[in-house]
Amino acid sequence: MTYQGLIQRYGHFLDLPAHTKTISLLEGNTPLIPMPRLSAELDCELFIKFEGLNPTGSFKDRGMTSAISEAVGRGAQTVICASTGNTAASAAAYAARAGVRAIVLIPEGKVAAGKLAGAIAYGAEVIQIQGSFDDALALVVEITQKTPIALVNSINPFRIEGQKTAAFEICDELGSAPDWLCLPVGNAGNITSYWAGFKQYQKGLPQLLGVQAAGAAPLVLGQAVEKPETIATAIRIGRPARGEQALAAAQESNGKISAVSDEQILAAQKILAEEGVWVEPASAAGLAGLLAESAVGKFEARGRRVVVVCTGHGMKDPAIIADSFAAPRIIPASYAALLGLIGA
Ligand SMILES: *Cc1c(COP(=O)(O)O)cnc(C)c1O
Repeated sequence: MTYQGLIQRYGHFLDLPAHTKTISLLEGNTPLIPMPRLSAELDCELFIKFEGLNPTGSFKDRGMTSAISEAVGRGAQTVICASTGNTAASAAAYAARAGVRAIVLIPEGKVAAGKLAGAIAYGAEVIQIQGSFDDALALVVEITQKTPIALVNSINPFRIEGQKTAAFEICDELGSAPDWLCLPVGNAGNITSYWAGFKQYQKGLPQLLGVQAAGAAPLVLGQAVEKPETIATAIRIGRPARGEQALAAAQESNGKISAVSDEQILAAQKILAEEGVWVEPASAAGLAGLLAESAVGKFEARGRRVVVVCTGHGMKDPAIIADSFAAPRIIPASYAALLGLIGA
């Protein structure tokens, strides 16, 4: 049967109301890519769940198909979200597909170009507020409590329902849950969803390694971070909406939440690209965390099956790369000049 999207494939596992009207862009069904070189290095079996291959370039599409389908089914005419970028692009695309109005609130500065462009291309009304992501989220919560506008941030329970499908896909592909699942943690909706998904699917439970950026690590510090700072803009969040659930999931799984520096994140991004997988910085945090933990011997990867979730595509944040590379070399359009430059 041809693929028709996540609600069609896994809807019977998702707690969605009867009024849900499926809006899909054939999201999900993303590849679990074996990483032979990294596997050899860590002496384990390592896979990347490459969520950057979703329709709008991040895992956010999994929860957005369910959240927008529910909202539209109940008659919502307008949806709103606060976003560091990927939620905005995803909400904009699914709202466009459904023919409803999308409003997105982004924090001041530091929203990656590819994400903002996406939200605008899909026709969302983008509003930048003079404040942080956390301020933006507080505003959308207030407006959706006082008006009929529907909230599609991951505090919307239907986002979590849709995002569980990534855990189902991994189990279906591997035959069971992996030993470890490593992923970035920002607002903590995704780690919450994976854990709920693995528990529900009953194909075994992984230990979870949730990874925050050191400059935005409230779950490691045990307190909110007023001015979160990191190049990994998708996880630049100081007050995670589902922080308690993330901590509970990590603990229940006998895993942990750790923090890595921006340097470690960029190094992991480079390692992934060298094996053919280009992800945005936040998406490399899972691998950075795994490498850091295995280096100090706290996490024994040896002999284990490990899935590292790469949440968004590298093309979302081209500036991170463009800012650091040397300009291409310029030569005359002649064979001799080309051969002279590259050698034979
Ligand atoms: C949203 C996002 C995250 C963080 O996910 P949470 O559910 O907020 O923890 C990580 N990486 C990327 C690319 C994202 O878009």
